[in-house]
Amino acid sequence: VEFGSVVEDQLDLMRRLNEQRQVGSVLTQELAQAIRGGHIIPWYQPVVDLDSDRIVGVEALARWQHPEGEITNPARFIPLAEDSDLIIDLDLTIISLAARDVVRWHAERPDLRLSVNLSGRHFDRDDFLTPIASAVTDAGLSPEAVDLELTETKHLGERVTSGLVHQLRDAGFGVWLDDFGTGWSSLEYLLRMPVSGVKIDRALTLALGSRIGNALTTAVTGLTSELDLKTTIEGVETRRNAQIARDLGCDFGQGYFWSPPVPAPDLPRLWASSTNGSNTDPSRATAPN
Ligand code: C2E
Ligand code: MG
Ligand code: MG
Ligand code: MG
Repeated sequence: VEFGSVVEDQLDLMRRLNEQRQVGSVLTQELAQAIRGGHIIPWYQPVVDLDSDRIVGVEALARWQHPEGEITNPARFIPLAEDSDLIIDLDLTIISLAARDVVRWHAERPDLRLSVNLSGRHFDRDDFLTPIASAVTDAGLSPEAVDLELTETKHLGERVTSGLVHQLRDAGFGVWLDDFGTGWSSLEYLLRMPVSGVKIDRALTLALGSRIGNALTTAVTGLTSELDLKTTIEGVETRRNAQIARDLGCDFGQGYFWSPPVPAPDLPRLWASSTNGSNTDPSRATAPN
């Protein structure tokens, strides 16, 4: 009986793994089609200067817009894309669409910066820089207006050498460490990489106002200002946390307090308003991941 049930369990596990693999590959094909068909598009979240409360940039965040109108958040498809080189096509698609939007917006807001997320997989390629630079310059945008965000993961540390980051900086791009404070060996990494700034993760933002949260944030801004790096605080949802972050030395902020990510046509309305913070419309927030 014992042996029989073990075999049965094994068979059951194998059946389920096989089903998962099939579901995964169907989704992968659908995602590849969605990228080609123009259904993966950038939404934009403003980046705000904490001193002036003005929008200084936008972060492009991928959304899957289904023909029926439904919107899927990246947590549902980025991990899948990360399993293959599909993430490279996805990133380049977002970069090129976002660069086009920003070129248009530059007519009204010439100093507007664009932030995009870059998978560590790009760095596995010999000529990783050319497609990224082309996606930007083909749209008529200068790399100097673009910040590339790298999420610090175990893999990224293995892939990205300071020489590769130097190549991006030499091409004119800003390079930022995303989700800072959640990865491992962050400090060692920070000291080794020629990055332009760090984005403090929402986990730390949530702790603002507590003794430990403030101490950690002060440690980060102390270190970054010593290294002449900028800091953006992510996931700010309250005026109080925006004020604390500014007082603790953060330069920029991002979060639902100012605005959730919105579709491109909704953005100009945001910088038309003089008081960004009071204009928050939480109903635009997409479903939690
Ligand atoms: P991220 O780059 O750290 O982006 C910030 C995430 O926090 C976004 O989630 C944003 O909608 C969310 N967020 C912003 N403010 C608030 C807030 O006040 N409260 C809360 N609860 N959340 C807030 P989103 O858009 O779902 O993206 C999730 C992640 O997916 C991104 O994290 C990024 O790592 C990845 N991602 C998104 N687009 C792309 C892309 O085009 N390429 C790559 N490689 N990764 C992407
Ligand atoms: Mg990011
Ligand atoms: Mg991230
Ligand atoms: Mg982040």
